[in-house]
Amino acid sequence: MRRAPRTAWWAAAGLCLAACVASPLGRQRLLLFPDAEIAELGVASFDQMKRQMPVARDPELESRARCVASAIVAQLDTGAPRSWEVVVFADESPNAFALPGGKIGVNAGLFRVARNQDQLATVLGHEVAHVVAQHANERVSTVFAAQSGLELLSTISGGPPDQQQQLLSLLGLGAQVGILLPFSREQEREADLLGLDLMASAGFDPRASIALWQNMAEAGGAQPPEFLSTHPAYGTRMQDLAQRMPQSLSRFEEAQRRGRRPVCG
Ligand SMILES: [Zn+2]
Repeated sequence: MRRAPRTAWWAAAGLCLAACVASPLGRQRLLLFPDAEIAELGVASFDQMKRQMPVARDPELESRARCVASAIVAQLDTGAPRSWEVVVFADESPNAFALPGGKIGVNAGLFRVARNQDQLATVLGHEVAHVVAQHANERVSTVFAAQSGLELLSTISGGPPDQQQQLLSLLGLGAQVGILLPFSREQEREADLLGLDLMASAGFDPRASIALWQNMAEAGGAQPPEFLSTHPAYGTRMQDLAQRMPQSLSRFEEAQRRGRRPVCG
């Protein structure tokens, strides 16, 4: 596993004075790139994933994933893409990712762990929350802060292979390209909590998140799934979820009252 050089973090700290923006949960962080550029980067990376990874071509799994994803993204603010492309990949590891620019990838293996629509909504809510909270921009900004003038899009499509891979993994595709640059603990916590809000607002039962993370832990056996090895410790996550649950349950009840009752199989 490679990590960002220490100098980049110092440069980021200095630049923070000039270019810091609060995250949805109020954390100050550096965002150097325009949203549109990060979105283009997400779209180009997704095209690359579709060329490199076999697609599952399973209509039942596809429709379940699309149904859950569309209910979740319907809850996003007006600035977010309204239509998201959802692809199910023929990969047996229980994993999923979402990219800026409105792209969602789900591995077929995730359906063994996310056993109903509410559990699937937990994972997709978490992944979409990483996008909404601009975590990709934050990660790319922090690592590339020292390299001013870097053309992200040309780097991802034709730059040196190691820089291409690094960018892909900063976008959250580390498991796919084999370089793990995990999201930070703060970013994961934000994705869990915002994801819980999103799923509940869409009318999915937020209590399913507890069962989902239990399934994920059990699925691993001696070797935990990639998704868990790059995500926070189980106990911490459970505590955070439990603390947020009363608030999420009232969101869920409100969504149900308003007729948001998705049926995704
Ligand atoms: Zn995450």
